[in-house]
Amino acid sequence: MTDLPVILDTPDGKLEVSVVRSARSRRMSIVVKDAAASVRMPLRGSYASAESYVRRMSGWIAGHVAKQREDLVKKQRGFWLWGECYRVVFARSGGRGHRIDGDALTVFCKEGDEAAACERLLRREVRAFLGRRFAYWERLTGRNGVKTMVTGAESYYGKCFTDRNEIRFSSRVARLPLRCAEYVIVHELCHFYVPDHSAAFYAKVARFMPDYAQRRKEMKEYYKK
Ligand SMILES: [Zn+2]
Repeated sequence: MTDLPVILDTPDGKLEVSVVRSARSRRMSIVVKDAAASVRMPLRGSYASAESYVRRMSGWIAGHVAKQREDLVKKQRGFWLWGECYRVVFARSGGRGHRIDGDALTVFCKEGDEAAACERLLRREVRAFLGRRFAYWERLTGRNGVKTMVTGAESYYGKCFTDRNEIRFSSRVARLPLRCAEYVIVHELCHFYVPDHSAAFYAKVARFMPDYAQRRKEMKEYYKK
């Protein structure tokens, strides 16, 4: 049996809070994700108690949903992909993944799944980019068999784990112009030779990518986009 969502009246209109029962929930908690709110509760909890809990928390819930919506809208206004800024349109049907027409980027996803769909898009793009370019740079820098992983990290573009022969790339790499993304690959591959950011390290980078300094400078303009 599914519980009906609790409907809250907020300054922004009616807000649905879905009720999710789970064996793992020991007590009630509110989750707001991708501008959608839910209350998690134990399997045998009473609906009435969940409803009154949601009503007690209504101000907090409405505030968080509004904030996350705003972030999504900001994203829609300018979505950076490979150094270009697109206007995002979310479509419920008519395709899969995404489509680009001029300056419009259409993302196909379910309602409430917008932010997650954008993140999936970025990761797909980074994986495809690595599929096209990583082996080339591996050969050029004299490495092979380096494992790659794409993460949602906010704190780095790339991170090299020399002991595991692995490089992790953030989905944010897909926000950069391609030439900067290529620099991220070379930068991380060079860490297998020199782990720190010393002059020796950059000399190594320059050997494989003579114009790396320019690319690195350009990259800084895209930081946090
Ligand atoms: Zn580094």
